Amino acid sequence: MKPDLLLANIGQIATLADHSEAPKKGAQMNEVSIIEDGAIAIKDGKIIAVGPTNEILSEISSDPVLPTLEFPGMLATPGFIDSHTHLVFGGSRERDFAMKLAGKTYLEILEAGGGILNTLRSTRAASVNELVANAFSYAEGTLNMGSTTIEAKSGYGLNTENELKMLKTIEILREKLPIDFVSTFMGAHAVPPEFEGKTDSYVDLVIDEMIPAVKKSGYAEFCDVFCEQGVFSIEQSRRILTAAKQNGMKLKVHADEIVQLGGASLAAEVGAVSADHLLMASDDGLEEMLKAGTIATLLPATAFSLNTEYANARKMIEMGLPVALATDFNPNCANESLFFTIALSCYKMRMTPREALSAVTINAAHALDRGATHGSIEAGKAADIVILDCPNPEYLTWRFGANLVHTVISNGQVIHSRLGP
Ligand SMILES: [Zn+2]
Repeated sequence: MKPDLLLANIGQIATLADHSEAPKKGAQMNEVSIIEDGAIAIKDGKIIAVGPTNEILSEISSDPVLPTLEFPGMLATPGFIDSHTHLVFGGSRERDFAMKLAGKTYLEILEAGGGILNTLRSTRAASVNELVANAFSYAEGTLNMGSTTIEAKSGYGLNTENELKMLKTIEILREKLPIDFVSTFMGAHAVPPEFEGKTDSYVDLVIDEMIPAVKKSGYAEFCDVFCEQGVFSIEQSRRILTAAKQNGMKLKVHADEIVQLGGASLAAEVGAVSADHLLMASDDGLEEMLKAGTIATLLPATAFSLNTEYANARKMIEMGLPVALATDFNPNCANESLFFTIALSCYKMRMTPREALSAVTINAAHALDRGATHGSIEAGKAADIVILDCPNPEYLTWRFGANLVHTVISNGQVIHSRLGP
């Protein structure tokens, strides 16, 4: 064996192994497969071997120039995967937040020119370069906190030209940052003001014009819909998701966040890869997701920022539904930290630190249809690894305010290190 990079003497490696075929569920979520004093051999951007340091060293042909990094006392995990973000948008919303703190209601903020309409205006007015600069800063922040794969959605353009501009922004980010981006078209994120009271006509536009244009561009792998009372109904969401599927896109659904509309059932019915939010999902809806193999992606920072109840993660895990966690980074919940998300999942949703780790690695990989190639430290997988300056998974949640990232490796390259590579 001749690696081109060796990580050795790592205090603990949480490999999250043996779930490349299917996500972790039930008691499996609490198993993270620890190797003590471990080593990881990397070649051409892929992991070629992982195991105890002495075993790996004995398999390597002696090579005096083999670059080796040592991390005694630290924890290696798969690179974090943030499977739900809206990180491309124009402007920022700190002014809204000030109004919110001063006691203004959502509608008052909207009337004062704030809220999603503010972001819609700023996004439409921004050039691609401006959107790239904005999103680059957020994505870089995410990278510094251990994320090596980030999903990003359109959905603040809400017409063909501006939705394509948002997706183009993600294409440019892919070239500028050494991490993997997964693109999602979300033209059905809101009804733009020019279609107020004419939601069905807007749905027609999404289906007849936007989806074919997005397909032609090749920019989006997934399609997502905000299925919610007052936004897109079950029937409208079904029409859009069915059209997207017919155009070769994989599906996600913003489901049952505020009202129990039946989004979880719809996600199962259309074969969505994940249904996200699920705060109000019915037991029947969750059962249907279980049967359909749809992953439950929970976004606790959104509940935190809205000061609402949290999704019932314990019920989902106990019924055997695979759970993933993501930041939901967006202008109304500007949290790019999966550390904060993990902390909320444990403190507010009673997930264990090991369940949370499964939820931001291998299960998040499956939520992006990348379970076969990402999300665990196993031979043959992408060498996406984060080294945390902490001794074990429990410490990660105990010290919940800190960024514990020491080193980030993406596709076999050191892309961030506290001490420099
Ligand atoms: Zn979202």
